[in-house]
Amino acid sequence: MPATSIFKKSLADKNDFTLTFELVPARSSRGGVYRRALEFADSAVADGRLRAVSITENAGGHPAASPEVMGTEIRERGLEVIVHLSCKDRNRNQMESQLFSWDRIGLRNLLVIAGDYPQRGYRGHPKPVFDLDSVQALDLISRLNCQQGDDRRNPMVRDLAPTSFVKGVAVSPFKTTEAELMGQYWKLHAKAAAGADYVITQVGYDPRKFQELLFFMEKTGLDLPVLGNVFVPTMKVATLMHERKIPGCVIPQPLFRRMRDESRAAPDRGRAARLERAARLLAVLKGLGYAGAHIGGPGLGFADLSTILDRAEALADVWTEVMDDLASWPVSAFYYFARDPESGLNLRKESRSRTQVEFRRSQPLSKLIHRVFFDRRGMSGRMFSRLCLALDRGRFAPALNRFEYVIKLLFYGCRHCGDCTLEETAFLCPQSGCAKKLLNGPCGGSRDGWCEVFPGVKRCVYVRVYERLGMTAFVNRIRCFLIPRDWALDRTSSWVNFFKGRDHHNMLK
Ligand code: SF4
Repeated sequence: MPATSIFKKSLADKNDFTLTFELVPARSSRGGVYRRALEFADSAVADGRLRAVSITENAGGHPAASPEVMGTEIRERGLEVIVHLSCKDRNRNQMESQLFSWDRIGLRNLLVIAGDYPQRGYRGHPKPVFDLDSVQALDLISRLNCQQGDDRRNPMVRDLAPTSFVKGVAVSPFKTTEAELMGQYWKLHAKAAAGADYVITQVGYDPRKFQELLFFMEKTGLDLPVLGNVFVPTMKVATLMHERKIPGCVIPQPLFRRMRDESRAAPDRGRAARLERAARLLAVLKGLGYAGAHIGGPGLGFADLSTILDRAEALADVWTEVMDDLASWPVSAFYYFARDPESGLNLRKESRSRTQVEFRRSQPLSKLIHRVFFDRRGMSGRMFSRLCLALDRGRFAPALNRFEYVIKLLFYGCRHCGDCTLEETAFLCPQSGCAKKLLNGPCGGSRDGWCEVFPGVKRCVYVRVYERLGMTAFVNRIRCFLIPRDWALDRTSSWVNFFKGRDHHNMLK
């Protein structure tokens, strides 16, 4: 039996403020980065305040050594490890294979994410995989964790010894529009339903936004431990974040200006000021009621971490007095809760700005056609079903397939996946509309409503879905889990697959 994870125990203990630290493997199998990581681990073990280090996987979409390499070496030195499991570079079978391997070598703390869109590698850009999205990956892991007999309908667990992964997920309160923010928060519910055990926030600095996430979870009955992200950027990385070149990580203009001025004025180029800000944020997170913090930043050594932890301890009783330095989120952005003028944080009542979204419920024709032809309770649906199945049996099957494809290509940008989810996604196709082909809600990379991969060119498909559905229908949609697409259906007729019960509709029953 695997030993109970110290990290897991710490998460469960409401009196323990769980501290984790992020390490990033290099695009190399050797070099100083590994030596520094091991030195860091030795110091952390001796110090005893960190519960685990998390190790990224191809961070930023760039190739790097896989996390289990650094993870195994660090674990041998007595420090627990969280490995990132992202969906960008591997399909479901490879993911399962990876999970068996990690379970075997005792790496059982995970952070499950969709991952940044893959960037240029050997002779160009690689093929992005995204066979599963993060919710589907969580479902896979939950099934592997499932004790035999827990779920008799699940053929995966019948013959397998159960694993015991601890599953972390990410969420970003740092979104400016209602559609993006609600996408993040309600997708967190979908992740919880699929088995998430804990949450780490995306990089950001604004205390009111950090508190909003906790209030929203409380209001909507989501009880998971949340670690706030405390990221200490170098000035170069801060500039990239400010210029929107690092997906999902945001430094708004006022904070960036302060950091730039500090960097110009101080002989250490603002390093001490950045560590002080991290300590302030850590104290604020603790004061707000976070279960812990996830600290990281390029080039940070254990001495830096120790400085941050000591200073945060000293600020613990005056955390409300140091918030101003961190407040940076645009006032014009969407906030779920109204502002408390006294504290500068949130009141527990909804904000009036909840009318930001201009709803465009503009698919009545698509809906009508769908109801007429695909509702088998009606006469027209039954007739269309018989027609499709009859054509599929004869020599007109290829013609039917082509006809369906051309129609849907013209009106919906169809990618001929054979398992149509248009009805569930407000008649917007995630296969063509989402660069990562996510079926269960948005990734964390969108910015001001634009897609992470096509900023300023293509709007995030889930922002558009929200605008079409409105809050209530969007929430219902996100809460309804969509299984991953079945590649055996690729380039076949989704109409025939639907009527034959071969698509996701049947699998959802
Ligand atoms: S469309 Fe939205 S969910 Fe898809 S990759 Fe772009 S930002 Fe992410």
